[in-house]
Amino acid sequence: MILDFHTHAVRPDPNMPAGYKAFMSDNQGGDLDKFDEFAERYANPRNFLALLDDAGVDRAVVLAETAVITSAIIPNDHVQQFTAPSHGRLIPFCTFNPYMVLNPAAELDTAVRQHGFCGLKLYPTYAYFYPNQPFLYPLYAKAQELGIPVMAHTGSSVFAGSRLKYGDPLFWDDVAVDFPELTIIMCHGGRMLWYDRAAALVRLHKNVYFDISGLPPKRLLDYWPDLERLADKVLFGTDWPGADMGANLKAFQSLALSEEAKQKILWANGSRILGLEG
Ligand SMILES: [Zn+2]
Repeated sequence: MILDFHTHAVRPDPNMPAGYKAFMSDNQGGDLDKFDEFAERYANPRNFLALLDDAGVDRAVVLAETAVITSAIIPNDHVQQFTAPSHGRLIPFCTFNPYMVLNPAAELDTAVRQHGFCGLKLYPTYAYFYPNQPFLYPLYAKAQELGIPVMAHTGSSVFAGSRLKYGDPLFWDDVAVDFPELTIIMCHGGRMLWYDRAAALVRLHKNVYFDISGLPPKRLLDYWPDLERLADKVLFGTDWPGADMGANLKAFQSLALSEEAKQKILWANGSRILGLEG
């Protein structure tokens, strides 16, 4: 079984932040209209599920996003409607921009208990907050109480206007100390700047993980030569549409890691966090 723990829903959006739109159109050969076509096609879950089939991916976490300055706007209700027809194959994660929502903890309660969201994604680098700011603590307390994981962007970003200081994994040390039962996933493993910090944190904290999304799989053993030893605390993800899902999976599978380590990263760790059955 293969779980892609990090994918983004896409949809045509006239208010999409310019930096994100420029990046996505570059991905489509520099053609803005082509990106709209692409977004239209994959706003339909049937087409996204066909893409999973082609890639050989069984299940995928689908992330909402409200990063109005720098990145995409994919509302929670879009992700809810997008994942609903998949009968559990697509796993919805909600998001709250803490500057745009008065009581994110109450909203999270509703999202999980009433709307079936399975996790929370935060975007410190794109929405400008430090992960250990006190105003976020009620949100973490609620996530811990609900038993859902919190994922957050760490490391570099190519989207114009991103501020990298907010993406330092070290801020999650405070959160892990204060919420020892909360599952924390540092996306992209501190990309470019802080691979060593991400590795240290997953070693030190039993409920802290990182995902390898948005990284070229063939470079992973350069970033973490001891990836084999970290395998219990690492999650596979592609960051689709930022990467080709099938090619990314193949490249990961061809790494010089034991089959046991690959299986943990591709399925066992993520399914344990989410309580999935194989
Ligand atoms: Zn992402």
